[in-house]
Amino acid sequence: QGIWRLSKLSVLVQDDPGKDFFAVSDGLLQAIAKLIEFPVASMLPSEAFTVVRKSFDARKTLKEPKFVYTVDMDVTQLLNLEPRTWDFISHLEPKVGFIEHIPCEIVSGDLIKIINDNKITEGTSFKNPILKKPKIAVVGSGPSGLFASLVLAELGADVTLLERGQAVEHRGRDIGALVVRRILDLESNFCYGEGGAGTWSDGKLVTGIGRNSGSVLAVMKTLVHFGAPKNILIDGKPHLGTDRLIPLLRNFRQHLQRLGVTIKFGTRVDDLLVENSHVVGVKVSDLRDKLQLDCQKLGYDAVILAVGHSARDTYQMLLSHNMDLIPKDFAVGLRIEHPQELINRIQYSGLATEVHSGRGKVPVADYKVVKYVNGEDGDLDATCRSCYSFCMCPGGQVVLTSTNPSELCINGMSFSRRASKWANAALVVTVSTKDFNALNFDGPLAGVEFQREFEQKAAIMGGGNFVVPVQTVTDFLENKLTVTSLPPSSYRLGVKAASLHELFPTLITDALQQSISMLGKELAGFISKEALLHGVETRTSSPIQIPRSNDTCESTCLKGLYPVGEGAGYAGGIVSAAVDGMYAGFAVAKEFNLFNSDI
Ligand code: FAD
Repeated sequence: QGIWRLSKLSVLVQDDPGKDFFAVSDGLLQAIAKLIEFPVASMLPSEAFTVVRKSFDARKTLKEPKFVYTVDMDVTQLLNLEPRTWDFISHLEPKVGFIEHIPCEIVSGDLIKIINDNKITEGTSFKNPILKKPKIAVVGSGPSGLFASLVLAELGADVTLLERGQAVEHRGRDIGALVVRRILDLESNFCYGEGGAGTWSDGKLVTGIGRNSGSVLAVMKTLVHFGAPKNILIDGKPHLGTDRLIPLLRNFRQHLQRLGVTIKFGTRVDDLLVENSHVVGVKVSDLRDKLQLDCQKLGYDAVILAVGHSARDTYQMLLSHNMDLIPKDFAVGLRIEHPQELINRIQYSGLATEVHSGRGKVPVADYKVVKYVNGEDGDLDATCRSCYSFCMCPGGQVVLTSTNPSELCINGMSFSRRASKWANAALVVTVSTKDFNALNFDGPLAGVEFQREFEQKAAIMGGGNFVVPVQTVTDFLENKLTVTSLPPSSYRLGVKAASLHELFPTLITDALQQSISMLGKELAGFISKEALLHGVETRTSSPIQIPRSNDTCESTCLKGLYPVGEGAGYAGGIVSAAVDGMYAGFAVAKEFNLFNSDI
């Protein structure tokens, strides 16, 4: 009879153990019994059930908020049931969307197993037989670079991981100096350093690329292996929080080092060494001694470029090699912050008291919204723009993600308990080449210029010193500025009242205003004097794509170069960047015949 997957099992808050993600509670057994039409819930042995997914559903359309489960039922464990009741189970029928018979060999999601499976399936087909370990440079230690390094090192390559920023311990001190003393280290900050842009983040692990796919499971299980809590495998909205990411990254690093990976922090790749359109190495600056910059040329058989989307100097360097960089759409806007209590009340009404600063039964409330607003009259190409919330951080804080003191951009982070008094989220509007051209920005880096324009404007509006320009949402909607009695902000380096309605071109401001007004109707209380808009959110995803082959992940312009992750335009977010890095690792391994070698 095997395994049956039972979905959409609802348990009311009062009947649920809340934060225990694995428990098969009496409430859950009741829901299972109801679904499979089994008469006596208490006769179902809890050992026969494994929770696969648990989410909290507080949509306004529901009569009451509830936990929603997906559970696997192992029928062999039910064989001891008394014969008459067993009859119910043995006649179980699939019910679309609710009951599904699944094969026993469910994807294990085990990265090492996937590597071994690939070894077998790849057989002897290889293009470049080489007799020595291939020397691979991975540039960037964000999720994509880390997972590419892991796969290649597991498969026996000689991997060097080059990272311009610092290891998490050192990076933590640099971020401390920024937040407390306003000292921005240009190479070690919220964007650069071990773990990449997502280390001081909310650590949300939600992804749009298929939560149950083998590759996403492989990433999640690897994170658990390095110290993430197991509930990320089950939670419908998994998140880690900065405090969990830091030890996890340390474990990841130690594992790579045990596999023989050379990790060079404070090492920035400034150029590619190219011979006959083939990348043969990189030129690096050793930034550890800031007084005496040491430049070196290092030879490699292949270079994986996993630099993220803030490395604008690297984009410029790629252009100097006549590489094609294709401008792509992204989104810009502002970060809105409310008191978390207000969001809890908006989302949960009476249940808001169950949140208790992240220790209660129900999760700290969040929101995710998308609105479509009309574009300019007569514009057939862009009659509609989407405006959406992005990177929502419940119980979090607004942080500075600038990599240059003359530019100001922000994002959000939180700790695992999400216990701060504030809830913040970006509200952003999609922009495209047409918007860049309207400001006379052309060419492959037009999107970067567009970002920079508003980051510089925001820095000026804030008055310098990383002070962030802010405006109450009510003022923003009315195109006016009240400088007195601003609500408090979680942003640590200070805020200044500013006319954010004048920051973006009218079309973007209009789209933001229209969508905020629509949101206010949907989420009563969202438009409030307590809601503060912060400027400016510009780095939502990469402004370019670096073309590469679908199969090999190799650049279509330069042999031996593998652009990966968010900066190359192939991912958005921690999990998808990790998955892209993993795939690129396999692709490079295949190219160098690592699946079938004895090295
Ligand atoms: P990155 O993580 O950007 O890594 C690139 C690395 O390359 C960096 O460490 C950089 O220092 C290094 N590098 C760049 N240039 C060079 C060079 N020339 N030489 C050597 N090294 C170089 N995503 C989520 O899914 N969930 C979240 O909760 C979330 N919160 C976020 C909060 C903040 C504050 C920020 C900034 C981002 C957040 N993101 C979040 C986005 C997420 O961090 C990115 O999508 C993800 O990190 C992209 O991974 P990546 O490996 O492609 O690039």
